[in-house]
Amino acid sequence: MTSAERYFDITGRKALVTGSSRGIGYSLARGLAQAGVELAVHGRHAEGARAAAQRLAQETGAQVHAVSFDVTDPDSVAEGVAQTVEDLGGLDILVNNAGIQRRHAFTEFPVDEWNEVIATNLSSAFLVSQQAAKVFVAQRRGKIINIGSVQSQLARPSITPYSASKGGIVMLTKGLCADLGPQGVQANALAPGYFKTELTKTLVEDEQFTAWVTGRTPAARWGDVDDLVGTLLFLASPASDFVNGQTIYVDGGMTAVV
Ligand code: NDP
Repeated sequence: MTSAERYFDITGRKALVTGSSRGIGYSLARGLAQAGVELAVHGRHAEGARAAAQRLAQETGAQVHAVSFDVTDPDSVAEGVAQTVEDLGGLDILVNNAGIQRRHAFTEFPVDEWNEVIATNLSSAFLVSQQAAKVFVAQRRGKIINIGSVQSQLARPSITPYSASKGGIVMLTKGLCADLGPQGVQANALAPGYFKTELTKTLVEDEQFTAWVTGRTPAARWGDVDDLVGTLLFLASPASDFVNGQTIYVDGGMTAVV
């Protein structure tokens, strides 16, 4: 192994990627599996998680487990993380990726949907990190990677709860750094720009919106989910052992320019 490879070696590490039954989470899970990580694919629905785990195992030849729990429910999170740790025989890496989007005019935004977005995109990362941290602190080692968005920094009309939740991810990440850094844990955020997934399918198909994305992004294209994997591996590996509390934008340059 070259010294360059040693910085990024995560062979045999154990990981949980929330919301990895499809979309960005699935691609992140695949990137970790291809790097030799044993992981649990997760979703709210057991069937979707099982099918995705099977597909990923076939695609990569890696050992892949399936776990399902609602990331908004504290008791389910505690049980689900404990189950994951038992299945994997430990935990070294947590990726808080599960998330939803809701769109309404601000004056019409239903309060229950505000609560749903904050619970799924922000409180979930607090709850799952709290359970994972019990393992990480005991072993004095662990990597938490929270998935943000360009909306961690920039707002858009009709998605105020989403922007508030993703802005919250930046400060949650710093809080985790403050609380857990002294105990050998790194918490960082990876903030994607506009990526082609199930969540953005209607936007990709909308010619006007796609023209806006390609015009607004210095890279002049939608992101491909594989664009995220290199930064994920950096944040999951020893190469980032002195990087803590940071948010890295993988957005083709969108948040760098007006
Ligand atoms: P998808 O809708 O494709 O996938 C969402 C995943 O989250 C699914 O696995 C889903 O599982 C899971 N999930 C949702 N709610 C819950 C819940 N309450 N409990 C457990 N699991 C849940 O989303 P994307 O892949 O597009 O997005 C993933 C993350 O990336 C999100 O945090 C999103 O905000 C962020 N992001 C996405 C961008 C994009 O362009 N797509 C850009 C920037 C950030 P199930 O189906 O079983 O509910």
